[in-house]
Amino acid sequence: MENKTLETLRKQIDEVNLQILALLNERGKIAQQIGQLKEMQGVKRFDPVRERESLDLIAEHHEGPFETSTIQHIFKEIFKASLELQEDDHRKALLVSRKKKPEDTIVDIKGEKVGDGNVHYVMGPCAVESYEQVKQVGLALKEQGIKLMRGGAFKPRTSPYDFQGLGVEGLQILRQVADELDLAIISEIVTPQDIETALDYVDVIQIGARNMQNFELLKAAGSVNRPILLKRGLAATIEEFINAAEYIMSRGNSNIILCERGIRTYERATRNTLDISAVPILKKETHLPVMVDVTHSTGRKDLLLPCAKAAIAIGADGVMAEVHPDPAVALSDSAQQMNIPQFHEFMSALKGSPAHSLR
Ligand code: PEP
Ligand code: MN
Repeated sequence: MENKTLETLRKQIDEVNLQILALLNERGKIAQQIGQLKEMQGVKRFDPVRERESLDLIAEHHEGPFETSTIQHIFKEIFKASLELQEDDHRKALLVSRKKKPEDTIVDIKGEKVGDGNVHYVMGPCAVESYEQVKQVGLALKEQGIKLMRGGAFKPRTSPYDFQGLGVEGLQILRQVADELDLAIISEIVTPQDIETALDYVDVIQIGARNMQNFELLKAAGSVNRPILLKRGLAATIEEFINAAEYIMSRGNSNIILCERGIRTYERATRNTLDISAVPILKKETHLPVMVDVTHSTGRKDLLLPCAKAAIAIGADGVMAEVHPDPAVALSDSAQQMNIPQFHEFMSALKGSPAHSLR
């Protein structure tokens, strides 16, 4: 007898659940129509005054047995879900997300297809110092069959008294060497006004860690037709990093390479802490190629090789590291750059590494 009553009550609950479901969906459809009307009228979708009125009306008619606060909480969730229904697609799925585009993006830099499943290398000095310096590095890259050369012309330095880079002259040197050796150039740009200038010289515009949330720079980078290498900010979460890329893509430029370069933690053994798991997370969440900068993340020459192997094994699309003909006299990042023989050793160790077969 008791069992039967329980069964009956459960049946009633199921019926009520289905009624609630039907009503919720009916409500959802009305909310969508309201959303369309608001869109046409150019009115904001969220209206706190209206929401307050609705909650008051509900409280006024509420007779229990639930607490008024409980009922209001449930209705607030319904309001929130309805608002999400009204929102544009891009609020639900970012342009950079896999949800939006399941296939990998391949960034073609003068025939070098970053994101094609192979490992690509970006090597070169921290800063451009002279034609001779860049040329020596360029020749070493050629020897290794590397096409992508990096070098900073505008250097964002911690101290204003440190070498700030050669500016446009540095870009000119990079271009000259690249043309002589058939290389492609990646160089950092730090202000929106210089983005246009950069188009005359560089094949990839780098946005550095310190500028990852310089939104005007991101918008400017998004408005040109040139690949962008976006570095993760010093203290940026993965979500912030992804949103920075979204700033670029939302302006129309979808040729973006993400670069993990270490984040600041309490650990002092390395210059930054290489967040290696960011690589598979970014590959899963976005369709963009992901590189790892082993130089700035570790700041230690002895860690370049093991970290590069880890990057390759975990699925990175590329590895960045700094090379200088004479690091001892380099004007920036002197301690962490490889010299040319070290670079050749590094490359042959990487090429022969079983890390490739772990991908
Ligand atoms: C660089 O790559 O030259 C550089 C300054 O790196 P980051 O922005 O990652 O510090
Ligand atoms: Mn550097």
